[in-house]
Amino acid sequence: MSVSIVYTRAQVGLGAPLVSVETHIANGLPGLSIVGLPEAAVRESKDRVKSAMLNAGFDYPARRITVNLAPADLPKEGGRYDLAIAIGIMAASGQIPVEALSELEFIGELALTGHVRAVKSVLPSVITGAKQGRKIVLPATNQSEALLCEGAEIVPVRHIHQVFQFLTGEIPFPEPDPVVYPEQTGSSEYPDLADVVGQFQAKRALEIAAAGGHHLLFYGPPGTGKSMLASRLPGILPQLTQDEAISVASVRSVANQSAGDNVEYRQWRKRPYRDPHHSASSVALVGGGSVPRPGEVSLAHHGVLFLDELPEFDRKVLEVLREPLETGHIAISRASGKLTFPARFQLVAAMNPCPCGYAGHPAISCTDTPAQVARYRNKISGPLLDRFDLQVEVPAQDVRVFTQKSTTSREESSQSVARRVAAARAIQRARGGLNSVLSGKALDESCELEGDAQMILESAVDRLGMSARALHRIMRVARTIADLSEEQKITSTHLSEALAYRKLDRRPN
Ligand SMILES: [Zn+2]
Repeated sequence: MSVSIVYTRAQVGLGAPLVSVETHIANGLPGLSIVGLPEAAVRESKDRVKSAMLNAGFDYPARRITVNLAPADLPKEGGRYDLAIAIGIMAASGQIPVEALSELEFIGELALTGHVRAVKSVLPSVITGAKQGRKIVLPATNQSEALLCEGAEIVPVRHIHQVFQFLTGEIPFPEPDPVVYPEQTGSSEYPDLADVVGQFQAKRALEIAAAGGHHLLFYGPPGTGKSMLASRLPGILPQLTQDEAISVASVRSVANQSAGDNVEYRQWRKRPYRDPHHSASSVALVGGGSVPRPGEVSLAHHGVLFLDELPEFDRKVLEVLREPLETGHIAISRASGKLTFPARFQLVAAMNPCPCGYAGHPAISCTDTPAQVARYRNKISGPLLDRFDLQVEVPAQDVRVFTQKSTTSREESSQSVARRVAAARAIQRARGGLNSVLSGKALDESCELEGDAQMILESAVDRLGMSARALHRIMRVARTIADLSEEQKITSTHLSEALAYRKLDRRPN
């Protein structure tokens, strides 16, 4: 047989479309040509494959070898096809039986010695390959990533000679090493809320945000613990489900600059927490590049995206957040079409009240003019500000809060807050979904007001000239507050508290 077909997978976004490596060996001038839109790194596999095969003691046919990577219209990059190409040549030249190949897929880069090297973006290929019922032959150094996909049959290999041995029946298929993922210990993996002294209203707002999935904006002078509070959010959220964890790991797999096993996979069930600097570009934030990689919004998928010093971000950069906030994914345009990455994150942002940071501070006076303060706050567009159901002040605290030793023992732990959050989420699940996405009829139906709550609401609407949208935000937050206290109807207490978290709303002109 001088023709063979070997299966492998490309990587396009989080997708892993099948690629057939067709190898034909014919008489003619010796040489290897690879066709099917290979990029530079794939063209280089010619030399790697030849050296690897010779150094591992295999015949490299001194004939005309043509390798076609089909379909041709898929972009192909990296060394991930090396192993499949080498196996294709070995099969087409009769060194291994062709029959063994149809139930297998091969991924891996070859070293010149014949060793199989780790590659990036393995997990999406394993997930897709397993659905087709094929065994996946991949670098042993990628196995802890690959094993995240439960039920996938993976064959970890270290050297091409090992692949030859099991394909010819000399040895059984290698089994993966048992990988021990550390037990999920819950909230202790994250910084604890008990470390934050005082700031009871901000902590309460964090709990409400966690319970209802609301986006949250903290504002207050520097050094009051805004970022410390934000970093505690993942620890009070429920643990990732298996499906969520797999989708988080897939994003990491594609984003990872370093291939192979690393600490991120051992902590793979951890809810993401991303805090890009305000100098971040829009590509860094939402993803892109010539070979599109996921950005911060996708790395924060199913987790928390924290933007500190929100007004310092470039306004154009912030505008690109609107798509993922609305749809839960981000589409990236590229020459060969659009691809999408998931990006369903909870947004927490922090800002100073003014450029100098001290407006409203009890001891330090603000040095800004009212115009400067207005310009600073206007850097955040109305539509973006609208996204925050909770706008919460984190004020400067009296230093006595820190010096009174007894205070620290009173701080509640993340674990105990997480229990209330879980209970409130269970109530919402029974109703159909998180309160943060309630709208229209579902919102009206789930927000029955009790007694004078209706009156308080009407007076707030009149007094503040509130828009319908602002009203909905308040209702959603009030619903979450009522769920936290396990009450069916929204009372005046719940409503008043929700109204208190709207400090930065602009009055309509
Ligand atoms: Zn100021």
